[in-house]
Amino acid sequence: MSDRRPLVSGNWKMHLTHLEAIQVVQKLSYALDRGPQGEVEVSVHPAFTALRSVQTVLDADEIPVALGAQDVHWEDKGAWTGEVSPTMLAKLNVRYVIVGHSERRQHLGETDEWVNRKLRATLRAGMTPICCVGETAAQRDAGETRDHVVGQLHAALEGVDAAAVAGVVVAYEPVWAIGTGRTATPEDAQAVCAALRAAVGERWGADAAAGVRIQYGGSVNEANAADLLGQADVDGALVGGASLDPVAFAAVVAAA
Ligand code: PEP
Repeated sequence: MSDRRPLVSGNWKMHLTHLEAIQVVQKLSYALDRGPQGEVEVSVHPAFTALRSVQTVLDADEIPVALGAQDVHWEDKGAWTGEVSPTMLAKLNVRYVIVGHSERRQHLGETDEWVNRKLRATLRAGMTPICCVGETAAQRDAGETRDHVVGQLHAALEGVDAAAVAGVVVAYEPVWAIGTGRTATPEDAQAVCAALRAAVGERWGADAAAGVRIQYGGSVNEANAADLLGQADVDGALVGGASLDPVAFAAVVAAA
C-alpha cells in the first residue's frame, strides 16, 4: 500500500465562462460534501478567463479543492502576446499546472522541448506540474506504447533533480482514449503506469519513483473510475468531459 495521496483533477478545457465556472465549482463543493473524500486531493482546471473567479469562490467558501491551470508559458514576463506566465498563475494561488496535454501537442504544435521548459518553469514558480504523456492508436497498435511514453517522460523531466521529480504528477493519457468514450483496460493502465514509475526509478532513484504520482486519463467517468483507480500504480485521474458535471466528478473522486 503506497502513501501517495491520490489526485483527481478536472480539466475543463475550453468550456465554461467565468460565470458558469462559478456555478460548477459551487455545485461541486456541495456534491463533494456529501461523498466520502477521504485522503483524495482534488483540483479543477478552468480556462484562464475563469481562474480568478474560481479562486475567489474556493477561498471564500473554504472549498477543499486546489486551483489548477491548463497551460503556462515558460518565461516570467516578456513580449509573448497571448501567453500567461508562471508568476501570474502562482499569484492566483494556482497549485497545479497541466503541461503537455495531447490536444496541445497534436493541434497546437507543442513540442517535447516546450513541455520541458514549461514543466521547469512551473516548478521554479513553486507550483506542481501535471505532465501528460500518452500514445496514439497507431503507436499502440505498433507495440510502441512503452517506448513512446517513457521517451516523452524523459524529455519532459530533463534537467529536473530527483527531489523535484518526487513531487511531480504524471498523467498517463492514451490519446485514443481522450474524449472518445474508450478507456484503457485497468490492466493496461496499470502496466503503463508501472512502466513509467520504473523509468523514473531507473533515472532518478527509488525515492523519486515512490513519490511521483501517476494519474490515468482518458474517458474516466463514474462507472469506470473504481476499476482504473484501484490499480497499484494509478494515483488518481485526469478527467475531462466528466469533470464538467459536478455530480459525476464527485463520484469519480469518491471512487479514488
Ligand atoms: C483530458 O482532457 O485530459 C481527458 C482525459 O478528457 P476525457 O476525460 O474527456 O477523455
